[in-house]
Amino acid sequence: METRQTPTNGRLFWRGLSRACAVCGQRRLTRRLIALSDACPRCGFRFERQPGHFLGAVIMSTIVTFGLILITILAGVWVLWPDVDALRLSIVPLAIAVIVPPALHPTCKTLWVAIDLMMRPLDPGEAVGDLISEEGAAKKR
Ligand SMILES: [Zn+2]
Repeated sequence: METRQTPTNGRLFWRGLSRACAVCGQRRLTRRLIALSDACPRCGFRFERQPGHFLGAVIMSTIVTFGLILITILAGVWVLWPDVDALRLSIVPLAIAVIVPPALHPTCKTLWVAIDLMMRPLDPGEAVGDLISEEGAAKKR
């Protein structure tokens, strides 16, 4: 059984950012809108490579969310100055705190998988499914 090669770092990054499987580029990996599937339906790659694997994705989502909250607070102070009202100032940051984490969740997970693959390439047998049909499709193009 042949094992897939780990794609280039640029391809891994783009696939992760666009919510695709970092290994084969398969899209539509989410269930119930935001939950990432356990494994890629095309290549069989299991996204959670070890227990606690997605801690990096949670950290990435937290950094982005807090960064956006900080930016909106600073922009709000700048816009409302000198009559800064805490209630008016907190509306947009609260909306960001509620909306952004679930919206970013699948993207952060696929991006984290891609970053992890950049650091730890595929092990033999980790993603093997549908290699032959993918090569056949590539030849037809
Ligand atoms: Zn795949």
